[in-house]
Amino acid sequence: MSIHVLPESVVAKIAAGEVIERPASVVKELVENAIDAGATSVAIDAEGGGRRLIRVADDGCGIPAAEAELAFTRHATSKLQTADDLDAIGTLGFRGEALASIAAVSQVALTTRARDEAAGVTVRVHGGRVVGRNAVGAPAGTLITVENLFYNVPARLKFLKKDSTERRHIDTMVTRYAMAYPATRFVLTQDGREVFRANGGGKLDDVLVAAYGVDDFRQMLPVDAPPRTDRPDLPPVRVAGFTAAPSLNRANRAHITLFVNGRPIQDASLTYAVVQAYHTLLPSGRYPVAVLMIEMPRTRSM
Ligand code: ADP
Ligand code: MG
Repeated sequence: MSIHVLPESVVAKIAAGEVIERPASVVKELVENAIDAGATSVAIDAEGGGRRLIRVADDGCGIPAAEAELAFTRHATSKLQTADDLDAIGTLGFRGEALASIAAVSQVALTTRARDEAAGVTVRVHGGRVVGRNAVGAPAGTLITVENLFYNVPARLKFLKKDSTERRHIDTMVTRYAMAYPATRFVLTQDGREVFRANGGGKLDDVLVAAYGVDDFRQMLPVDAPPRTDRPDLPPVRVAGFTAAPSLNRANRAHITLFVNGRPIQDASLTYAVVQAYHTLLPSGRYPVAVLMIEMPRTRSM
């Protein structure tokens, strides 16, 4: 076969695969956009493990009607201007890839109204193609509905796990963002049933009670380690959150939840450090429950 440049539609599907692995990835991207938009309330609905439908509604700043289609263009973002801005990113998103990726592999309807505009707009995008646009009355904020995820990528569809597994991934994702943003209200509904609610009161404690139940939360201890003062050569790092008394333990590391500057992360060495901190307090093969927020300078050059 001769070398040829791939058509844009194929490029878009390949690129989408890097961002959107499963329904929970869609939830992650849409929730991050809602947070970046300054939402105080985010409602997430999922059906069929998110494969049939994911809907995220927020009361954030909304998108100006004139930019609604542009939001679905790859590398289109309102969060970054120049390469220098990369050194001090204050938002969760900045690549301008999520909406384009999601829309390339599903059927999306976006209804949005910017706070300072009188009317809202609905834009429909199917498999990356804009198929409809009309002016609508809508509350300020954004409502995105993603249906039939991977309908045009059968290979991806085959790799999805059963609904209950995908539901669990969505649950974990929403719970994590609720922990990182306790001042934001989150309500998660799956197949018509409310499965998680954080009231946005601003306290991590309340989110943990919602996530783990009051009995488990009672066995958790607050952590608040300010930056070290004895090592001015190291960047100032603060670690805060909660970690379990040894009585509260699990059979795997999945309940060690870590964040860096408000972003959920997975990191084997940090997870190892948390487990090691218990030394011999935990029986072998048992792992703590922990929710730790690591805050460090956002800039590269210090
Ligand atoms: P990124 O978040 O990296 O900028 P996205 O593809 O996720 O890229 O979104 C593209 C743009 O669409 C954002 O930069 C933002 O301007 C706008 N946008 C997306 N979702 C929302 C939302 N929920 N509220 C307001 N604006 C949004
Ligand atoms: Mg985004």
